[in-house]
Amino acid sequence: MDTATIAAIATPPGVGGIGVVRISGTEAAEIASRIFRRSGRDRAVDLRNTESHRLLYGTVVDPASQASIDEVLLAWMAGPHTYTREDTVELSCHGGPVPLQETLRVALAAGARHAEPGEFTLRAFLNGRLDLTQAEAVLNVIGARTAESLRLAVSDLAGDLTRRLEPANTALISLLAYLDASADFPDDEIETADIPVGLQAAEEALEAVIAGSKAGMLYRDGARIALVGRPNVGKSSLLNALLRADRAIVTPVAGTTRDVIMETINLQGIPATLLDTAGIVESEDMVERIGVERSRNALRTAAAVVLVLDGSITPQSGDREIATALAERPVDERTPVVIAINKSDLDGHADQGPVTTLFSPADTVRISATTSMGLPELEQALVEALGGAVAQPALITGRQRAAVDRALVHIHDARDAHAAGIPQDLLATSVRAGLHAVGEVTGEHVDEAVLNEIFSRFCIGK
Ligand code: GDP
Repeated sequence: MDTATIAAIATPPGVGGIGVVRISGTEAAEIASRIFRRSGRDRAVDLRNTESHRLLYGTVVDPASQASIDEVLLAWMAGPHTYTREDTVELSCHGGPVPLQETLRVALAAGARHAEPGEFTLRAFLNGRLDLTQAEAVLNVIGARTAESLRLAVSDLAGDLTRRLEPANTALISLLAYLDASADFPDDEIETADIPVGLQAAEEALEAVIAGSKAGMLYRDGARIALVGRPNVGKSSLLNALLRADRAIVTPVAGTTRDVIMETINLQGIPATLLDTAGIVESEDMVERIGVERSRNALRTAAAVVLVLDGSITPQSGDREIATALAERPVDERTPVVIAINKSDLDGHADQGPVTTLFSPADTVRISATTSMGLPELEQALVEALGGAVAQPALITGRQRAAVDRALVHIHDARDAHAAGIPQDLLATSVRAGLHAVGEVTGEHVDEAVLNEIFSRFCIGK
């Protein structure tokens, strides 16, 4: 590991109340002493002889000219009780680009090297403070879009994913110990291990993580939900009612187009982007036809569809056409449909059977976009349709998922080899490979290219 002392601006670009320059490494105290003067004393401080985890008030100066750069608070934190486990200094400056850049400039001039993206977290990993699941959880904490996705990410930061993989790790380690011992000392009496039971324990732990991963992705990455229905059934009213019920989430996704309106809500913790389509109706009008095309695209990218009906009148031909189009989609485009029978506040309750019977089983909820009646039930139905209603969602990355899948392949190989009575040394090879794959998730076994790829996704200063 490169042992240079590193420095970077740790807060986002732009203007804010404060901005932080972070310095980490064996020389952090000396570098900080060169550029910091304590207020009132006008002289360098000896941080090495200053109590750790204290704040000092003073000025950053340019050591070349002694000119003052900014008035700051210096946080001195001696390792190992720091983010990187190294000696760390954080300078809280005024939150503007120039004070921060100037402070960084003098820190670099005083001997620090500019940190690479994610290098502070990389050091935390290399120094054993975080395993790889925790380091990757940092990205999910920073990128969390709802309180629920934050909760999941923070529990992984505390080691939850690693704990969930632990039964697989333990089972494979003890199987391997048994297999190796019986290969090395074939004549000794070795307590036999139940190989199928051990493999099954490992398999179950890994399957449980995979089972929660679809839901985890949903909470982290969100999902699109298309609202479809013929004109005037209340799609826009429903969109607005859902926006009122759940504070809208601000997204970087482009907002309104001519015919598909997108808004993101917090759907019981899932960042759900609602697409209000123009209605799938055949049309002679060119402009409207483009709208229809966009609606179809919206439908294709959605993870669930809400078919809105006007419950106060009997289904019209437009309703039936749209419902038929939905019900007859090719199998691979058949995202789940929830039928929202709207306007239930009105007196007339017409039979919607001609439409609902096209779907089996039909997931039907009576709502009123005007009074908000039935909206919690509609939301619950959507969470279930999306696959978010699981006990233990797991936030796993593509890399982690691939490693878990590989581990399962090796476990299945081992099980088949055992069933076929194949020699135990071959069995040991599969078990060892499975263990290695689990170790790739936690970072016990990981090569530099993978680390570079992971940490390049971090911002500078993290
Ligand atoms: P869209 O064309 O499907 O987007 O339908 P709108 O949201 O524009 O609604 C069409 C009409 O139905 C408007 O006059 C709404 O006020 C009315 N409307 C929508 N939802 C309800 C509802 O739940 N109850 C009642 N009584 N009227 C509704």
